[in-house]
Amino acid sequence: MEQDSKIYDVCIVGAGFSGLVLAIKLARAGLLVCLTDLNRVVGRRILSTGNGRCNYTNRRMGAEYYYSNNALDFIPDKHDDLRVFLRELGVLERELDGYYYPITNQAKTVRDALENEITALNIDVFLDCRVTDITQNDIFTVTTHRGTIQAKKVCIASGGLSAATLGSSKIGYKMASKFKLKVTKLAPALVGTTSKDICLKELAGVRALGTVTYKNHTCEGEIQFNKDGVSGYPVMCISRFIGLDELDKNLGALSMDFVSFMSETQLKDELKARFERNDKADITTSLNGIANEKVVQLVISYSRIYPDTLVSKLDDEDIENLVYNFKHFSINITGTKGFDNSQVTAGGVDLEGIDLQNMEAKSTKGLYFIGEVLDVDGICGGYNLTWAYTSADIAANAIIKEV
Ligand SMILES: Cc1cc2nc3c(=O)[nH]c(=O)nc-3n(C[C@H](O)[C@H](O)[C@H](O)COP(=O)(O)OP(=O)(O)OC[C@H]3O[C@@H](n4cnc5c(N)ncnc54)[C@H](O)[C@@H]3O)c2cc1C
Repeated sequence: MEQDSKIYDVCIVGAGFSGLVLAIKLARAGLLVCLTDLNRVVGRRILSTGNGRCNYTNRRMGAEYYYSNNALDFIPDKHDDLRVFLRELGVLERELDGYYYPITNQAKTVRDALENEITALNIDVFLDCRVTDITQNDIFTVTTHRGTIQAKKVCIASGGLSAATLGSSKIGYKMASKFKLKVTKLAPALVGTTSKDICLKELAGVRALGTVTYKNHTCEGEIQFNKDGVSGYPVMCISRFIGLDELDKNLGALSMDFVSFMSETQLKDELKARFERNDKADITTSLNGIANEKVVQLVISYSRIYPDTLVSKLDDEDIENLVYNFKHFSINITGTKGFDNSQVTAGGVDLEGIDLQNMEAKSTKGLYFIGEVLDVDGICGGYNLTWAYTSADIAANAIIKEV
């Protein structure tokens, strides 16, 4: 790091997706910008996104895809802007049912495109450079373990606590507290759950379609069972509530509906029709095709029916039990798989302390927060990278206007 008298217009803490986007936008407008990151490469986390494919945005946008302790109706829909921004950097897109990926199917394409632009714009990047403190006098001094950086403005884009091996630290939250901003409760989100339920021995490896309900949160999709827990899209999407409840030791159970495409009455009629069509069949044969085979076996067992019982022997109570267990299959959970296995952090710097027109701290002129460090987390589907882009874009526009 140069220890000269250079004073940057903006020093960005964190060269992740949001920090890179902000640096590019500011440098294009002629501002003197620098980036610092504790990793040895920029955009390390981007490489792991979308299972290495980087699902960077989604056609379906709106506040309903995000969570926070504050209202989120201020979030503008910038998914088209993000697509144009990446397209200009050479990232050709592929859309799969509204989910956008680079056409190469490689997250590296996105990371490299951002890095190439950073290089082309001659932006100073300090890698392997951990920020430890920020102080403000007339200007800001950013202290790192390699030296100090001086800047007129500082933007904290240091991300959350998830997947520590990809680079994470508490610096954003610490600096928020130092500059008199609140930090809401932090919990792992977009993460699998843990369970000791005995049924998982039978279900391990099963992927079944269904609706998952945790307290009053419901989501539909492919549920994945492992021997020590449950994951898959619907569980991941509501896992933030489980993570937060785990902090308060207030966990509930997961309730699963394996026949969510039918009401209870329709399912009852379906079972009766099957039993009447062939009353010589046993229950296991008769229920073939209603849900995953192993799920069917467990539902039969939970309904206290032997698997070879002839359907002609079943009464109304048995049918009620079958319907109940198909639609309210309960699994006790012991928590989530933790920050290290999570994709995003629920909670963060409280939006109440941030001017949402420019992402500046209300307490401190010239100090900005963008991306995951803030109390905003999206569900699976490109929403978190879109938030990283959106918050960076809001900050960039405001800073450019001001400077
Ligand atoms: C496995 C995985 C898969 C994911 N898949 C998707 C997906 O497909 N789509 C999607 O939208 N989102 C996905 N996400 C979430 C998404 O990656 C993040 O929400 C997004 O990267 C947040 O961007 P950010 O810039 O706020 O933070 P980050 O990208 O985390 O960047 C923060 C940067 O700050 C640096 N930093 C931290 N502390 C310091 C310090 N003290 N000093 C210097 N530097 C520091 C870090 O090294 C890091 O590079 C995924 C996350 C994971 C872990």
